[in-house]
Amino acid sequence: MGRIYNFAAGPAVLPEQVLKKAAAEMLDYKGSGMSVMEMSHRSKVYEEIIQNAESLLRKLMDIPDNYSVLFLQGGASTQFAMVPMNLLTGSGKADYINTGSWSKKAISEAKLFGVPRVIASSEDKNFSYIPKEFTISEDADYVHITTNNTIEGTRFTSIPETGRIPLVADMSSNILSEKTNVSAYGLIYAGAQKNLGPSGVTIVIIRKDLIGKHSEKVPTMLRYSTHAEADSLYNTPPCYSIYIAGLVLQWLDDIGGVDAIEAINKDKASLLYDYLGNTDFFKSPVNTADRSLMNVPFVSPSEELDARFVREAEKAGFSSLKGHRSVGGMRASIYNAMPVEGVKALVTFMKKFESANRKV
Ligand SMILES: *Cc1c(COP(=O)(O)O)cnc(C)c1O
Repeated sequence: MGRIYNFAAGPAVLPEQVLKKAAAEMLDYKGSGMSVMEMSHRSKVYEEIIQNAESLLRKLMDIPDNYSVLFLQGGASTQFAMVPMNLLTGSGKADYINTGSWSKKAISEAKLFGVPRVIASSEDKNFSYIPKEFTISEDADYVHITTNNTIEGTRFTSIPETGRIPLVADMSSNILSEKTNVSAYGLIYAGAQKNLGPSGVTIVIIRKDLIGKHSEKVPTMLRYSTHAEADSLYNTPPCYSIYIAGLVLQWLDDIGGVDAIEAINKDKASLLYDYLGNTDFFKSPVNTADRSLMNVPFVSPSEELDARFVREAEKAGFSSLKGHRSVGGMRASIYNAMPVEGVKALVTFMKKFESANRKV
């Protein structure tokens, strides 16, 4: 069996070139006589790998010098707690915009360390849109948003203006998918397993003046300062995941960087949204203006047909199209590494399914 089209939400598809390169370098990484998995994280050869990953990320996202890039563990879920532990140190209050399941988890964790205030929410309509009206509190230690809502299929198309209050963003499912003005943020975090590499590594991009504000009670491993001071080598980092992330970043740079992938991503998303806009068989539950470029949820006329669709799609070589258990229906995750051919093939399959199952 060859490669199928993998529409999984995460861990997700990786560029084939990256997997081939990793395979070729598996037994003997650049004449070291060993695999990246086997080498010391303090070795010269590994140092180059992690530094290369960082400089590629800096280049691709145009990260200013007054920001640190950290490679951490624990996933975005650990950042839900690490952010308040390290940044909720002024008034102890922060503003959260609640746009979905991941935002809610971030809010719950913040409650353990202070007072997260939900200044806007789209929960009234099943998180099918991005709230536009809110007032940021003068005394907030930070404002938190989820830039792309992986489960619900929405995204912020413009970034809230927060003035001198640091904006913190969970970009797990759309980092590097479109142009980002890093200097608009105080802190950006993202688990790698959607758009950046395998699971196991979490990227944090943090403005340097926000590092070191934590109280003395914060455990060493959960302080941003620990990792910033040690260039992410305070303890053993997720060495192999960082190596693969570096290969993904190299791949992205080779194909033209974020501008190029943004254009491709918009084309891919349009293929699906144009079809969804032209059929009354499948429906998109999401407010048109707020639709995600990365995660495209849709439903058929019935749950029974949803199940049949997922089953038949799987057989036809389209994997993991079942929607998240909390929302049902279907979801196509079309991250950077999903080739446009995959989306075209999916739309063709959807059209065929529609004609075969449409009631006359
Ligand atoms: C997947 C995801 C998470 C959770 O990431 P983990 O790395 O599994 O902790 C958090 N936020 C968003 C937006 C996600 O897509």
